Amino acid sequence: MTTVQTVTGPVDADSLGLTLIHEHFFSSDEAVSVQWPHIRDHEREYALALESAAAVQGHGVKTVVEPTAMLLGRDIAALQRLAADTGLQIVACTGIYTYDHLPQFLLNRDADFIAGLFVHDIEQGIQGTDVKAAFIKCAADEPGVNDRIEKIHRAAARASLQTGAPIMAHSRPASNTGPRQVEILLEEGVAPEQIQIAHTGDTDDLDYIQGLLDAGVYIGMDRYGLDLFLPTDRRNATVVELLARGHAERMFLAQDFDIPIANGLDWYPPEVVEQLKAAGGADDWSMTFLFEQVLPALKADGVTDEQLNTMLVENPKRWLSPAAAR
Ligand SMILES: [Zn+2]
Repeated sequence: MTTVQTVTGPVDADSLGLTLIHEHFFSSDEAVSVQWPHIRDHEREYALALESAAAVQGHGVKTVVEPTAMLLGRDIAALQRLAADTGLQIVACTGIYTYDHLPQFLLNRDADFIAGLFVHDIEQGIQGTDVKAAFIKCAADEPGVNDRIEKIHRAAARASLQTGAPIMAHSRPASNTGPRQVEILLEEGVAPEQIQIAHTGDTDDLDYIQGLLDAGVYIGMDRYGLDLFLPTDRRNATVVELLARGHAERMFLAQDFDIPIANGLDWYPPEVVEQLKAAGGADDWSMTFLFEQVLPALKADGVTDEQLNTMLVENPKRWLSPAAAR
């Protein structure tokens, strides 16, 4: 039996079922939260998370992969409570979510030291619990893959090689980060099928995307509803074309829905969130948008149930299964 770690313990990979590969129930700025706890509304945040969990379960979702890492407010206790209250399987990560900044503690330590932190979460448990991370998160965005970002990618790669855990790399196609991220991870010896380049669906530049697929990695078509990066019709046209090219086994569909951001509890004040929605940048963004509007549109464009099953059930199971189990 191949097992995958969830916040309520290991489960048989076959029981993951319909899986959303990239959604955030809880997120926050860690430093602000610790220094000024009075600005957080934990009750409201938890109620909103419960609402979204029930909504996805209503569409048959069995598992949500929650890639909230360090610097995005990873909160294992909250995820454990949510999983226990709903029966939803939640998969947690280790890793660091930064576009540039690192605290002095990590600036002055090397990739091997940081890899050790990630390995601890995968083998021992996260934040003093026995909940084990199932994958490793890293990120590159507008500042590009500078020295600090490269160090985190090398740390992620080394932890992956030691543990067999796969890697999810947040990317920014508009800054051409994907190819360099893949290059570093491959250079460290990580197998391409262990790598997922998240947010590749933010572009419809097929040459850029094909370049990543040619390296053998997975890609996240995972920000449905975030029209400010790319509107749904262009995301769909890209997925349809890539399916026609035979890439069903390398694509994930998700929304990167972030409950605190969508509700003005983090990143942006509520009035800015409302402006964004009113401008059409994220007016349909939710944890169920995929089921309500995207999948019906893809089916109307000829996407088959088998292809959807590959992207929403088989790919998550294959990618999340530790390397040794493959
Ligand atoms: Zn995300």
